[in-house]
Amino acid sequence: MAIPEEDVARVRASTDIVALISEHAALKRQGTRWVGLCPFHQEKTPSFSVNAEMGVFHCFGCQRSGDAITFVRDVEHVDFVEAVRRLADRAGVTITEDVAVSAERQRRAPLYDVMAKAVDFYHERLLSAPDAGPARDYLRSRGYDGEVVRRFTLGWAPDDWDTLAKHLKVPERVLVDSGLGFVNRRGRQQDAFRARVIFPIFDPSGKAIALGGRVLPSPAGSNGTGVGPKYKNSQDGPIYAKRRTLYGLNWAKHDVVASGEVIVCEGYTDVIAFFLAGLPRAVATCGTALGEEHFRLLRNFARRVVLAYDADAAGEAGASRVYEWERHHEVDVAVAALPPGRDPADLARSDPDALRQAIAGARPFLEFRVQRVLGGADLRSAEGRAKAAEAALEAVVEHPNELVRDPYIMLVADRCRIDPGSLRELAARIAERPAGEHRDGGRRGPRAEAPPPEDEDRVAPPEAYGDPAARPGLEALRLAVHQPELVAHRLEAVLFPEALQRAAFEALADADDLHDAIETAEHDDPRVAGLLRRLAVEEPAADADDVVMTLVRHASRRALAEVEAQARLAPESVAEIAPVTARVRYDLSELDEPERCVQAAERLLAWLVGRGESQNE
Ligand SMILES: [Zn+2]
Repeated sequence: MAIPEEDVARVRASTDIVALISEHAALKRQGTRWVGLCPFHQEKTPSFSVNAEMGVFHCFGCQRSGDAITFVRDVEHVDFVEAVRRLADRAGVTITEDVAVSAERQRRAPLYDVMAKAVDFYHERLLSAPDAGPARDYLRSRGYDGEVVRRFTLGWAPDDWDTLAKHLKVPERVLVDSGLGFVNRRGRQQDAFRARVIFPIFDPSGKAIALGGRVLPSPAGSNGTGVGPKYKNSQDGPIYAKRRTLYGLNWAKHDVVASGEVIVCEGYTDVIAFFLAGLPRAVATCGTALGEEHFRLLRNFARRVVLAYDADAAGEAGASRVYEWERHHEVDVAVAALPPGRDPADLARSDPDALRQAIAGARPFLEFRVQRVLGGADLRSAEGRAKAAEAALEAVVEHPNELVRDPYIMLVADRCRIDPGSLRELAARIAERPAGEHRDGGRRGPRAEAPPPEDEDRVAPPEAYGDPAARPGLEALRLAVHQPELVAHRLEAVLFPEALQRAAFEALADADDLHDAIETAEHDDPRVAGLLRRLAVEEPAADADDVVMTLVRHASRRALAEVEAQARLAPESVAEIAPVTARVRYDLSELDEPERCVQAAERLLAWLVGRGESQNE
């Protein structure tokens, strides 16, 4: 059952978050906040903060944040609905069934039905239809016997325009919303899948929600019409969203929970290969890259994620995103040691033992990256070793935790025969490079400062906090959260160069209040929600006028530098640009004049906004 938004809001509003959290942690009043030892991680000095008025908490140690509902969910390990129910009981609030939610369920029910019928239809075709012969041959050649075909409900979509549509006989809306077909220009219903082996995709509970289709490798399976790309997936629709669907999770979940590990691979046949090799805990994304929502789903099942991509694909996985997922979802990401150039599907057929070993020997993501650099380097000459060490350190410094980084610096030192001390210095220099981003908390002093012992499980705060240049933006956001009347009308998104800060500002600007902003952000980008909660337990320290002036000054200087750089590339435009740059320079100097700075800032802001709009056209 789903709970209506108004009821969730009433439950939240009726809950005294300080009283609630006090049942799990001792809180002391400090200014407008309450602080105490974090109930979610081990610590000796309090870094857990609660803002009672706004009903949110944030831990500066483990970065957990949320409201009363997430607190109950995380402390008592229940789902959202159950957490709301418990709080409702506690606060004496009655929850009603949501009419809109039931209407939505009624819209989806026929889609699930029709999808189940389509899966059966295609499955039967594969098992017995004469035209499915080439598909059966192909699957047999991949090592799939009848048992495998039944277990994964594989199917065959015949090489025809509308076999399924004719069989289903459903209204247009249902056919289209389910992704099973469409209506062509002549107004006739047509199938979405044609001449393809069908891999039905199920939700974790086992309900079919979409199809994946693969063409047969040889022309045997088709007469050359309507073939298209090798793999094709259902479009997103009311019952299917690629970004939060993992193929195979319905079959894998028991073994995933039992083993605490999930294998993530690239394709449907890879998933099946792992099952055949005796590792029934593999899942695959459905025609999209592994992302935030996949992790949110996986973390409910396992704490260890093994990427079983081929080595190049794994090497290209964005490191900063992986570390962010590890931190945010408290999972470990490892990379399977697959032999170069082999994918799980062909390895499972030729050498299932090697596949099992690749999973057993999976290495932490950072180790995989460092070994990959060193493995590809020429370590025979001093020059080669120096180059390899620098390249390896570039990977090492991306990790947010110093206590993780250091052993890898030792490893690089050992392999490249370079003194660890000089490598640490080199690593610090690499970390300072602008492109390398700052990973340690600027608020907690320079990187070289050893963290206090109780900080062992601390990880870096969000990027937005790492960079001293980001401070004016953070101050402005803090004011926008706590004293919007002072700044709201004087801030614009263009003033926030840092993406996370800009997103937080936009969330605040678009929302009625902080809760609304956090909730929306929770869907779009949980990092933004985390930043907003953190800001809510902090107090503004700077003067609103100073903050606005500083942001306008910085943004104007950046924009001026861009305009001038463009002028250098296109000298013919100088005459056009000169009056603009002259006016901006004049206004920038006016920012230092106490009587005229407000007007100058307004003019600069108008220019920045106008510029941003013309660039977006
Ligand atoms: Zn904590």
